[in-house]
Amino acid sequence: MNTTITSKDLRVFIENYMADYPASTGEKNIWRSPLLVTAKADQRFDILPEIAADNHSLPKDLLATGKTVIVLFVPFTKELAKENHKGDIPCRNWGKAYEATNNLINKLTGQIKVFLENADYQSALVPATHNFDHKKLMARWSHKHLGYIAGLGRFGVNAQFITPKGCAGRLGSLVTQADLGDSPLVMDKELCLHKNGHKCLVCVRRCPVEAVSEKTGIDRKKCWSRLKSNIRETQELAGLNETTHVCGKCQVVVPCSFKVPKTRKP
Ligand code: SF4
Ligand code: SF4
Repeated sequence: MNTTITSKDLRVFIENYMADYPASTGEKNIWRSPLLVTAKADQRFDILPEIAADNHSLPKDLLATGKTVIVLFVPFTKELAKENHKGDIPCRNWGKAYEATNNLINKLTGQIKVFLENADYQSALVPATHNFDHKKLMARWSHKHLGYIAGLGRFGVNAQFITPKGCAGRLGSLVTQADLGDSPLVMDKELCLHKNGHKCLVCVRRCPVEAVSEKTGIDRKKCWSRLKSNIRETQELAGLNETTHVCGKCQVVVPCSFKVPKTRKP
């Protein structure tokens, strides 16, 4: 018989898992405490092919009997983000953090799956990355867009995903048979200062290749080309995995890096 599980149980589970993770794996602790939201896998997700890639999967494509979408955010420490602020080339630790965090998220979502299976609920998940359509430069399973619908955060001008713990971090998600209901953390329409009519655009000025603009947002081609050249050509990232496509300059030491940005003026 199924055991009742709540979104609060899952939050406690991932907080404990993350608290133990550095000591149990020997990994350097480069993460703050994670966030998690749940949302009923209902018709709200039908909008995904419209707001994300047109070949974006729906929760039911992952798991026909799925009742809930779970999305989580693992924020980086301020020290790591600050280290990546200097210069136009990502620091080596930023590249290593990308690899370590993808690994962590794959394990963490795998453990959530086991936790739910122990209560007799099946789940389905996709890896933290590598679900990317290289022609359209859009994810076919976008954790950010799922998080947007589930109320984990909102998009900034730079297409980074601003959560209550900022945008410097990485996301993961899964679909489960457990009926966990809605547990959003964000109800506001927008969190980005500029989108809320305040002065900012720090991310626009921060991009080394002018891939972010006030009017059109992110130029995915320009950004992707920079991510590829960083791993191929920079000494700083030499020897890291060839799929470690990183930059993050518009994500670190900007007003929305570590929290929901606040304006001084009301
Ligand atoms: S840096 Fe400013 S303008 Fe850019 S996404 Fe963050 S809050 Fe919005
Ligand atoms: S990740 Fe780098 S290249 Fe891409 S938009 Fe941000 S700052 Fe520009």
